[in-house]
Amino acid sequence: MKAVIISLVLSLLVIPSFAKDKPNVVVSFYPLYDFTKNIGGERIDITTLIPFSVEPHDWEPTPKDISKILNADLFIYNGAGLEPWAERLIRNVKNKRLTVIDMYKSIGAKGEDPHIWLDPVLVKAQLKVIKDILVRLDPKNKSYYESNYERYLRKIEELDREIKDTLSRCKKKMFVTSHNAFSRFAKRYGLKQIPMTGITPEAEPNPRDLVEIVKIIKGNKIEYIFTEPLISPKLAESISRETGTKVLVLDPIEGLSESEIKAGKDYLSKMRENLKNLKLALSYE
Ligand SMILES: [Zn+2]
Repeated sequence: MKAVIISLVLSLLVIPSFAKDKPNVVVSFYPLYDFTKNIGGERIDITTLIPFSVEPHDWEPTPKDISKILNADLFIYNGAGLEPWAERLIRNVKNKRLTVIDMYKSIGAKGEDPHIWLDPVLVKAQLKVIKDILVRLDPKNKSYYESNYERYLRKIEELDREIKDTLSRCKKKMFVTSHNAFSRFAKRYGLKQIPMTGITPEAEPNPRDLVEIVKIIKGNKIEYIFTEPLISPKLAESISRETGTKVLVLDPIEGLSESEIKAGKDYLSKMRENLKNLKLALSYE
């Protein structure tokens, strides 16, 4: 009887803790989830702090979110002010195992615009950062992470080529967006973005700027203006009425709506939807 009890205790002791088998990765928002998941696959545990259907610029963590970082091996956030709470959170969390990646700094991005995920060339740099850190934290799965990285990198390169080819065949270069999310995208592909509000969607538009935007729309015979899914379309609708333009969606992919999650949409498919609407707005020939 004694022997049975001892062997039972031993077998309980050797059951591996599942959570510790895999790197426990926490990311701040949707694009970093999609990029990291594509490389880490089933070999990592991944949690996203900002719910997919929430606009991230205005989000704040709860104590429950902070506890997720306490148990993490890796925390990746975008940086450049997209998550103003992140640095404070890291300072206050006592977790010696934790590796922190500020993506913006890690890829050596310049300027003040945090929207680095909307430029596929900068996405490629982000994928390399993610792959390198996963290999360092979990070297036994090196070849798995590397082959996932290569495969996803090729998809991003394909997307980049597709955007370049398509936009080079568009007659117009100017597009009107909700918030100032697409200036990196515009610069990469030789376009000009006219944002209705500032770097965050909550920034109130200046009435004088709006008069100017209406003037630009009319002066350049712009036929379509863009709104985005996670914010109120009111501003775009009123400018649309004022200018007789049609409203389309150009998604800064700062999250995904419930229905998009259900439909299995992701960064790549959302970028292609954006491209389709840009083709229309910029007169693809
Ligand atoms: Zn934004």
